[in-house]
Amino acid sequence: MRDLAPTFLAVFRELKPRTPYPEFKIEFYPFASINSTIRRQDGRIRVRLSDLLEAAPEPVIEALAQILLRKLYRKPIPAQYNARYRRFVGRQEIAAKAHLIRQIRGRKRLAGAQGAHYDLDEIFADLNQRYFYGLMAKPALSWAPAAARRNLGHFDPAHNAILISRIFDRPRVPRYVLEYIVYHEMLHLKYPVRMKGSRRCVHPPEFQAEERRFAQWQAAEAALKRL
Ligand SMILES: [Zn+2]
Repeated sequence: MRDLAPTFLAVFRELKPRTPYPEFKIEFYPFASINSTIRRQDGRIRVRLSDLLEAAPEPVIEALAQILLRKLYRKPIPAQYNARYRRFVGRQEIAAKAHLIRQIRGRKRLAGAQGAHYDLDEIFADLNQRYFYGLMAKPALSWAPAAARRNLGHFDPAHNAILISRIFDRPRVPRYVLEYIVYHEMLHLKYPVRMKGSRRCVHPPEFQAEERRFAQWQAAEAALKRL
C-alpha cells in the first residue's frame, strides 16, 4: 500500500515548524463517497482517506494534506488547494456516476443471450475456442429486437456488449451464418477503432484478413447477401 506519511509530515512541518513531529496513522477506508477525516487520538494524528483516493496523483494528496491539517489546526486554507482537490474529486465522481449510469442503462436494454433457438453465450464460447485460443474475455452478449435493428450485429464499447439482431434467432438460419456475425463482432473487440488521420478506421486490413479465416467465410457472405 502507498505510504502517505512523508506527504503529511512535510505539510505538518510547513504549518508547525517548531513543533515536534507527531505520529501519523494514515489509512485508506472504503467510504461510500469520496470522504476523508482527520482527528487527534492518543497523541497521534489519525487520518482516514477514501479508498477512491488510493490512486490519486501526489499533488492531489498534498492538497488534501494541506486541507485536513489546516482544518485540524484552524488555519486558513488557500484557495489553490481546495480548487486542486475539488477538480480531482469532481472528475472521479463524474466518472463513477457515468459508469454506474452506463451499467444500469446497459442492464435495462439488454434482453439476454438465450434466444428461442440459439444461445449467444454458447456460440461465443465455441468461437472463442476455435479462433481465439479461448483467450477473449467475454463481453455482455444479447439479442437485439429485430424491429429496432439497423445493424445485423453491433459491438458497443461503452457497454462492452455485442448485440445481435433477432432475425438470426430462427431455425432456418444456419448456425454458421450466425457464427459469422458473432465472429465479426468479436474481431471488433480484438481490433478497436483506430484513427487514420481524421478518419475512423473500423475494419483495418488485418481485421479483414482475419475475417476471411472463418471456416465458411464464402458461404456465410453469400447467405448474408441473400438476407
Ligand atoms: Zn464491423
